[in-house]
Amino acid sequence: MNRDPDCIFCKILDGRLPSTVVDEDERTIAFMDINPATRGHALVIPRSHSRDLLAVDAEDLSAVAQAAKRLAGRMRDRLGADGVNLINSCGELAWQTVFHFHVHVIPRYAGDPMRLPWLPSPGDPAEIAAAAQEIKGA
Ligand code: AMP
Ligand code: ZN
Repeated sequence: MNRDPDCIFCKILDGRLPSTVVDEDERTIAFMDINPATRGHALVIPRSHSRDLLAVDAEDLSAVAQAAKRLAGRMRDRLGADGVNLINSCGELAWQTVFHFHVHVIPRYAGDPMRLPWLPSPGDPAEIAAAAQEIKGA
C-alpha cells in the first residue's frame, strides 16, 4: 500500500486527520468534502496513494469508479438527489489541489448552485478532426 506522509488524504487514511467516512471497501474509502458544492458532496479515494488519474493503478481506478456509482445510488435514494456529477481534476492546471487521486461525487438538486465550467459552443470541424487525429491510436 503506497503512502505519502505529507499527503492530507493519506493522513485521513491513517487516522492522523479527521474525516466523515460514508463508504469503504478493500481498495477505497469515501468521505465528506469539507467544502461541499452541494449537500452530500463526497470524495472517493483509493487506499493506496497515487497522485492523479495518469498515475493511478487500473484496479484502484476501477474500484473507485464502482464506489462512486454505489454512492451515486445512495445519494439518489437517501438524499433525494435528482442527478449526480462525477468530477476528477488531473493536474494543477485542471484545478487539482490535493495530489492523491480522487473522484468528487456531487449530488445534484433542482436549483442548486452548480454550473457547467465551460460555455458550450460549436467548434471548428476541421480543428476537431485534427485534434482527434492526434489523440487516436498508436
Ligand atoms: P481537488 O481540488 O479536485 O483536488 O479536490 C480536493 C478536494 O478536497 C476539495 O474539494 C477540498 O474541499 C477537499 N478537501 C481538502 N481537505 C479536506 C479534508 N481534510 N477533508 C475533506 N475534504 C477535504
Ligand atoms: Zn495520499
